[in-house]
Amino acid sequence: MKRFFGLAFCIILIILCCSCYDKTKEPYKEEIFAMDTVITITVYGEEPQEKIAAASREIKRLEALFSVTNESSDISGINKNSGEFVKVSDDTVALLKTAVEASELTDGAIDISVYPVVKLWGFTTGEYKVPDDKHITNKRNFVDYKKIIIDEKNSSVKIEKGMELDLGAVAKGYTSQKIKNILNEMGNTSAIINLGGNIETVGKKPDEDPWTIGIQYPNDSNYFSTLELGETSIITSGGYQRNFEENGIVYHHIIDPSTGKPADSGIVSSTVVCDNSAMGDALSTALFVMGKDKSIDLYRKYNNFEFILLDENDKVYVSKGIKDSFSLSQGYKDLEVCIVE
Ligand code: ADP
Ligand code: MG
Repeated sequence: MKRFFGLAFCIILIILCCSCYDKTKEPYKEEIFAMDTVITITVYGEEPQEKIAAASREIKRLEALFSVTNESSDISGINKNSGEFVKVSDDTVALLKTAVEASELTDGAIDISVYPVVKLWGFTTGEYKVPDDKHITNKRNFVDYKKIIIDEKNSSVKIEKGMELDLGAVAKGYTSQKIKNILNEMGNTSAIINLGGNIETVGKKPDEDPWTIGIQYPNDSNYFSTLELGETSIITSGGYQRNFEENGIVYHHIIDPSTGKPADSGIVSSTVVCDNSAMGDALSTALFVMGKDKSIDLYRKYNNFEFILLDENDKVYVSKGIKDSFSLSQGYKDLEVCIVE
C-alpha cells in the first residue's frame, strides 16, 4: 500500500512537472486581422486562450473608436462634425492628447491632421496618384495640430471646419499598450505582441532571457539588426511598408506635413524603443520625417526614448541607452554603426 502511494505520488509529481513545463515553455500563438494589418499575439504561461480572447476584444473595441473608415467611430464623428465639439470616449481623448503632445515635441513632424494630404496621394484607397502642387497647397491649409481643441473635462474634441484626423500613425501603439495592461492584469503573463510591426513585450520570457527583436532591412525580409530587451515597446516606421512607383520614383505613405509630400529625410527606417507605446509610435513616424540631425536633437532634449535609424547610405545610428542591447545580424556586419550619446 505504502509503495502504491509512493508510486502514485511519483506519477502525480511527474504529471505536474510535465504540465508546468508545457505551460511555461510552449508558447500559444494566434493571428488576428484588424486595424488594417496582421496582429500576432504569442502567449507563454497560463490561460493563453483566455488572454488572447481578452486581447482580441480590446483590439476590436479600440478599432471601433479609432478607425477613420468606420462611419460610427469617434474619429469619423470628429471629422464629420468639424467646426463643432464632439463627445468622444476617454481612450480617444487620451490618444489625441499623446498625438498632440508628440506634434509639439517634434514641431509638427507627426501631425494627425495631415489626413487630407494622405488622401490626396491615394494612400487611403490604394488608388495612388502624384497630386499637383496646387492641390497639395490647398489641402495643406487644413493641416495644423494646433487647431485640435481637446476639452478633457467634457471628453469633447473640436477641429476647425474642413480639417480631418487620422490616427494611423499612433493607434497601433496605443492599442498594444492597452493589450499589455490587460494581459498584465490577468497575471503571470509572458507574451509578445506584433501589431503590424509594432512590437510589445509583456513580462519576462519564461527562461528569463531577454526578448530578441529583429529589425527589418528595408526591401528585403531579413533582419539587419537585433535588440535584446525586457518589457517595453519597439516600433519601426519605414517608407518600404506602403508605397507606389511612378516614372521610376517611389512614393511612400509617410508624409512630411511641412511639404505635403512623402518625407525625404535620408532615413529609410526608424525604430523607437519607448515604455509609452503610443508616444513611441508617434515618435517613430516623426523621426522618419525629421531625419537624423533633428532626431538626435530631440533625443538629447526629450530623453524618454531610444532609437535606431538606418539611412540611405546604410549607416546605422543607435542611441546610447540601447547600445548594449543592439547587434548587427549575420550578413549585415559591415554596416557602419554610429552610437549617439
Ligand atoms: P505604419 O502605420 O505603416 O506602421 P506609421 O506609424 O509611421 O506607419 O504611420 C503612417 C500612417 O500615418 C500613414 O499610413 C498615414 O495614414 C499617417 N501619416 C502619414 N504621415 C504622417 C505624419 N507625418 N503624421 C501623422 N500621420 C501620418
Ligand atoms: Mg507611427
